[in-house]
Amino acid sequence: MGIYEELGVKPIINLWGTATRLGGALMDPEVAEAMVAASKESVKMDELQAAASRIISEITGAEAGYVTCGAASGLTLGTAACIAGLDVTRMERLPDTTGMPNEVLMARDQRNGWDHAIRAAGARIVDIGINESFTGGLRPVEAWEFEAAINEHTAAIALVPYTWDPKKEKFMAQVIAVAQRHNIPVLMDAAAAIPPLENLRRFIDMGADLVAYSGGKAIRGPQNTGILCGRRNLVASAALQHLDMAGFSHMWFPPSSLIPKDALLGQPRQGIGRSQKVSKEALVGLLVRLRGLSKEKTVDEANQMQVLLERIANAIAGIPHVTTEISHPASEQSGALPTLKVKLNAAGLGRDAFEVSLKLRNGEPRLWVNEKSLPSDVLLITAINLNQQLADTVGNRLREVLSGDD
Ligand SMILES: *Cc1c(COP(=O)(O)O)cnc(C)c1O
Repeated sequence: MGIYEELGVKPIINLWGTATRLGGALMDPEVAEAMVAASKESVKMDELQAAASRIISEITGAEAGYVTCGAASGLTLGTAACIAGLDVTRMERLPDTTGMPNEVLMARDQRNGWDHAIRAAGARIVDIGINESFTGGLRPVEAWEFEAAINEHTAAIALVPYTWDPKKEKFMAQVIAVAQRHNIPVLMDAAAAIPPLENLRRFIDMGADLVAYSGGKAIRGPQNTGILCGRRNLVASAALQHLDMAGFSHMWFPPSSLIPKDALLGQPRQGIGRSQKVSKEALVGLLVRLRGLSKEKTVDEANQMQVLLERIANAIAGIPHVTTEISHPASEQSGALPTLKVKLNAAGLGRDAFEVSLKLRNGEPRLWVNEKSLPSDVLLITAINLNQQLADTVGNRLREVLSGDD
């Protein structure tokens, strides 16, 4: 019996991909082994984060880096850093930002559920532009609109390169230029912008001051990890508001590569990030995964996913009212994984994709496809959590349900 069954929870086969509600992407055994090894010795967490900073700056090209407990935590810590800087008295007061610059400018059409994490630091989000596309308008928000909104209350500009689209590059470069002219930091939510792996460098290269990534999505590190990378002092501020700060000040010797102790009035107390603790095991797991990643490896993994999707497509070939299409985003631009679209002719099948999806969830084994395309009667399937044996299990079960033998 597996560990989940022992706990009375029936596992599922996650065809959705990296969704957090399904536990994120499965990890490589080498990552899990590193986590077990990390559990057997004690370390000073600030020294471990200083090591993480070195590794993350090598991989991203940023001045410094930090391991957070997810991209959302990176956004909260990054916003707190933009508001407080190295001012310990400000750190002490967050999320109360009375009298401090606390406005974070965001394109109205980039507002999303995760901007809660920005507001959690005490920021007020100021919407920029008009969501014209809603009524068929042609012009998305433009950089001059950000410039016009900058004032003495502005703390940061937040941008969301959700999945990477090069068409956005010019707009983002223009907004970054505006920010630099006014000495306002730019915080990017690049949580889901990997793959391609190159995007670990792209936004820092473009001039972003802080970039947050999810470690538990397609990077496939531990689910509750993330990366915050960028300017040294901002990362230091994030660290100061996140690390455990109990202890006597005269006994406090943080690693100088991470924390410029001499630039501080004193040692802060437990900060806004204390509710976002990162375990040494998760931190080590992420670092091991990051160090093992290479362009070749991610391309290789994507090719393996494609082969598994082909097995599934073959298993359901020839079923009436069902067609399949595999897309492999070999392009450098897409933030997506190879996907299999199983297109249903609902009238012919006598049931729509919602019904088929529920049937798959409630059967044996329990299969979870991506919900996104259900309204257009498409089952969207990724193979990031599959091996050959699981792919065959999935193919067989799909065949049963789609041929009405369920
Ligand atoms: C997933 C996601 C997040 C949250 O990332 P976590 O690592 O799960 O905290 C934030 N922003 C966007 C755009 C995301 O897709």
